[in-house]
Amino acid sequence: MNRTLNRLYLRATTPLFFNPVSFFFLNAMGVTASRGVPLLVYHRVAPLGEFQFLGTFRSGRVSRYRLCCVEPRRFAQQIEMLLHRGYEFKTVAELSDAPSSSLTRTVALTFDDIFYDSQKYLIPILKKYRIKATLFFVSDMIERETLLWQHRLYHGISTLSEEIFFKALRDAIKEFGGMNDLDVYNTFRRKLSLAEKNDILARIHPIANERELAKEIYLSKRDLKVMSDGPIEVASHSVSHQYMGELDDEAYLLELTQSKADLEEISEKPVHSFSYPFNSYKDEDGSLLVQAGYKVACTVNESRFELVGSGRRSGRINIREEDSQATILRMVSTQWKRDTL
Ligand SMILES: [Zn+2]
Repeated sequence: MNRTLNRLYLRATTPLFFNPVSFFFLNAMGVTASRGVPLLVYHRVAPLGEFQFLGTFRSGRVSRYRLCCVEPRRFAQQIEMLLHRGYEFKTVAELSDAPSSSLTRTVALTFDDIFYDSQKYLIPILKKYRIKATLFFVSDMIERETLLWQHRLYHGISTLSEEIFFKALRDAIKEFGGMNDLDVYNTFRRKLSLAEKNDILARIHPIANERELAKEIYLSKRDLKVMSDGPIEVASHSVSHQYMGELDDEAYLLELTQSKADLEEISEKPVHSFSYPFNSYKDEDGSLLVQAGYKVACTVNESRFELVGSGRRSGRINIREEDSQATILRMVSTQWKRDTL
């Protein structure tokens, strides 16, 4: 178990530029560490108190959940700062087609997991400043009437407490009996199938007003269609938000192809870009990515320098809710990186 977790941790945290495969591709394309474009990854732009279980709880010892949720006003100030400094905003798909000489003072804003509130908070800010962003949608989060497994998990932990929730998981799965909380948490998320996760979560954490809650937090098809006519690139963040590195090739490919097909059908726009849920992936040579018809896939291996031709991966800079304008400018304009992810 520990070896598996260590391997996954190393894979998730190895900077792209120090990965020999990426290094070869990047060099072959004439891309160096100092010339790439910073891709920033956000999650929600929303008031921090709204639907907190979707991204800001950090009370737990094990499930320190720190996905970025930036207050709208703070996000707008970050955009103003970058515009003031002369940065131009491009989508990931635009970057994949652009000659590298045209990419000075360029930045790309990307957003993973797109909820209903993005229409209320994010899109108006993009429109106000006349900028574009790449939004990575989970296709099974469109028009849902139940919580996606991951959100039911977070809902359970944040409403029941870790202690009660992990005990319930241990009671439900006998193999979890001797494991500590961290192993229970990681094994449940990574190693169980989607059907197993859904089944167990529905049993240990039923939600009374689930349908209303799902309607409030997820987008409808119509919402997605309206958004796709706005200042965004519609991109894929998989079908069901699983640890893709744990899937067999067939299931892996299905996450790539099915989400692309569904999002293209609803938005009536081509989908060129993908981002890996939980930064988990496995086709190191990008062959499945190419087979599925994507130009680019984004990781969250924190690095600022990669661009990328067809079928290539790019790292991104993970923005946190507490990041100041100075921190963001430093990450965008230099090669400075945080000490820890
Ligand atoms: Zn995600």
